[in-house]
Amino acid sequence: MQIDKTKPVLVTGGNGYIASWLVKYLLEDGVDVHATVRDPGNQAKVGHLLKAAAGAKGKLTLFKADLLSEGAYDAAMQGCELVFHTASPFVIKGLNDPQKDLVDPAVMGTRNVLEAANRVASVKRIVLTASVVSIYGDAVDMSQLGLKTYTEAYWNTTSTVDHQPYNYSKVAAERAAWDIAKAQSRWDLLTINPGLVLGPSLTSASDSTSLSTIRELADGTLMSGVPDMEFGLVDVRDVALAHIKAGYTASASGRHIAVSASVTMWQIVQILKARFGRGYRWPLMVAPKPIVWLLAPLQGYSRRFVSGNVGWPLKFDNSYTRKDLGLQFRPVETTLAEHFQQMLDDGILKKR
Ligand code: NAP
Repeated sequence: MQIDKTKPVLVTGGNGYIASWLVKYLLEDGVDVHATVRDPGNQAKVGHLLKAAAGAKGKLTLFKADLLSEGAYDAAMQGCELVFHTASPFVIKGLNDPQKDLVDPAVMGTRNVLEAANRVASVKRIVLTASVVSIYGDAVDMSQLGLKTYTEAYWNTTSTVDHQPYNYSKVAAERAAWDIAKAQSRWDLLTINPGLVLGPSLTSASDSTSLSTIRELADGTLMSGVPDMEFGLVDVRDVALAHIKAGYTASASGRHIAVSASVTMWQIVQILKARFGRGYRWPLMVAPKPIVWLLAPLQGYSRRFVSGNVGWPLKFDNSYTRKDLGLQFRPVETTLAEHFQQMLDDGILKKR
C-alpha cells in the first residue's frame, strides 16, 4: 500500500514515551501529524510535543480523545491515509482492576480506532503498536514449546486477565485488530511488536513502565538481588523508526518483532556498572529463585509469575523485521548508557 507523504497522519496517544519520538521524527520529516492526547491543555503532557513541532517542517495538530469514548478518533482521522495506533496503558504494578484499567482500554480502544478507520474513507494503512507479549505470555512458554527463539508466527495463549493482565491486554487487542482488518479490504494492518523499550525519553510525564525499570536497578530498590530474568531489549528511537518504515514501505506487511538483543537483568547491571562505575546502589547479586518465589507476594508479584518467568531464557528472531523494514537495531549498550545518562541529567537518579 503506497502512502502519500503529503497527507496528514494520525498518531494516537501522541504524548507517550514511544509515540513522542514517532511524532518528532514525522514532523522533522515534513509530515503533518494529527496527535490525539487525553488532555491537550496539560502542558506537562504535551509541552514536549509543541517544542518538537516548533521549527519542524511538518505541522502538529492536537486532538482530544479517550480510548473508551466511542467515535472519539473520527475527527482526528479525517484526511489521513496512515494511522499509528500506539495508545494503550503500559502499567504493570499497582493495578486495582486489570479488566477496567488495562484490558478495556487496550481492546475496546483498538476496536474504537479501527472501526473509525472503517468509517473514514481516506485511511489506507494502520500500524498498531503491539508487543512481544502478544507473542509469548510467560518466559517458560518458549522452553515448553521446545523453541530456541520466537518468530512472528507465535501467539501468546497463556495470559489471562488474572495472570499477566498486561500481556493479555496486548494479545487480546492485537487479535481484535487482525479480526477487524481481515473483515475489510480498503486498508492493511501492520504491527510492530517491541520487546522492553528503553532509551532517552522526550517526556518525563509518562507512566510507561519502561521509565521506572532502569531507575530501580540503580536506586537501591533491587540492591539485595535481581531476579534471573531475561528481556528482549530495544531502543525507543528504533521502535519509532520501525513504525515509520512500516507506514511508508509499500511492500511491508504483517507482524514485526522489534528487539535488538536479549539480556538478563544482571547483564544490564553489568553493562551499566562498567559504564557508570561505583556510586549507585547496584544490585549485589542474582537473587536465588526460591527466595524470589517465597518473597514474591511482598513485592507485588504472584508466585506463578516467578515460576514462569524467573530462570527461563527468552529469545527473539528479528530477521523478518530487518528484512521487511530495512531496519538496523542499535546495540543495547548504547541504549542503556543513553537512558541512564538522561536520568542523571534530569536528576531522576543521583550519585551517592
Ligand atoms: P506510555 O508513555 O505510558 O504511553 C501510553 C499512551 O497511551 C499515553 O499517550 C497514554 O495517554 C495513552 N493512554 C493510556 N490509556 C488511555 C486511554 N484510556 N485513552 C487514551 N489514551 C490512553 O507508554 P509507552 O511505553 O510509550 O507505550 C506505548 C505503546 O507501546 C503501548 O501500546 C504499549 O503497550 C506499547 N509497548 C510498550 C513497550 C515498552 O516497553 N514501553 C513495549 C512493547 C509495547 P496519557 O499520557 O494521557 O496517559
